[in-house]
Amino acid sequence: MQQDTVYSVVVPLYNEELVIDESYKRLKEIMDTTSEGYEIIFVNDGSRDRTREKTEKICSTDKNIKLVNFSRNFGHQPAITAGMRVSQGEAVIVIDADLQDPPEVIPEMIEKWKQGYDVVYGKRAKREGESFFKKLTAGVFYRLLKSMTSIDIPVDTGDFRLIDRKVCDVLNSLPEKNRYVRGLVSWIGYRQTYVEFIRQERFAGDTKYPLKKMFKLAFDGITSFSYKPLVMSGYLGGISFFIGIIMLIMGLINSAAKGLELINFQFLISVDLIMFGIVLFCIGIIGQYIGRIFDECRGRPNYIIENIVNKRGE
Ligand code: UDP
Ligand code: MG
Repeated sequence: MQQDTVYSVVVPLYNEELVIDESYKRLKEIMDTTSEGYEIIFVNDGSRDRTREKTEKICSTDKNIKLVNFSRNFGHQPAITAGMRVSQGEAVIVIDADLQDPPEVIPEMIEKWKQGYDVVYGKRAKREGESFFKKLTAGVFYRLLKSMTSIDIPVDTGDFRLIDRKVCDVLNSLPEKNRYVRGLVSWIGYRQTYVEFIRQERFAGDTKYPLKKMFKLAFDGITSFSYKPLVMSGYLGGISFFIGIIMLIMGLINSAAKGLELINFQFLISVDLIMFGIVLFCIGIIGQYIGRIFDECRGRPNYIIENIVNKRGE
């Protein structure tokens, strides 16, 4: 008899031929210990190596395994989004294929879920086998994002997490495009907690996140949750305007005192600063509006009601 699917494990794959067999083995071992029904959804994000063939082979021997193939490489965030949309489990676990997120942490996440938490994210207590550059840029980015947004996106946290079906359904219903999934999960709310883990070294192969993709993810994160960068031009304009005014006044006093010509170098610079100041100030105001238009385009609901106590008609 087919068991109900309690857990869905979503695994994005991009050129992971060196990793897929081990990844499947470790995930299966762990998920079998739950003694409950599960599915593992591999999302092949347009791999150019033998990832697809290898995963199809796994699917032919194990019916708990699903494979979603993309027509080309769309990126990590679209891959996990697709996996979530296909998933049927009561709890959905997103994990990287390369075993940097240890599957052994999943039972801890499940335990927290059974205690009533709706989101259990993995917090990286320590990162092993990653370059100094990666750790530094990631550390700076998470803190920069936190300082810019009003919602509480936990630092040092990737997409490795367990989410309840109801959170997954909300996430799936959001139409927005350049998704920063971990931020959206924070934004959705519900009862959230974390488990700490040590981020391991990649099992095999190289990172599939070159600098360009890291920048794209960072910009998606910032623009999805903050329009401070837009508004900042307003502040810059203000600063430039005041420096210009001060320079102008000092220049005029100086010229008058020393009997110099009025239109001199300092005068021109200060007029420039004032004009730039006004232009940037106006851009800043436009930024305020664009930020709000941006919010509208994203079409996120203004709130999500979990339940209503004593609702009439119940
Ligand atoms: N990945 C993907 N599409 C991409 C890039 C990465 O599906 O365009 C997958 C990749 O196969 C892995 C996960 O996303 O399962 C995280 O990528 P990676 O381990 O290379 O990133 P890092 O850990 O180096 O930040
Ligand atoms: Mg990795």
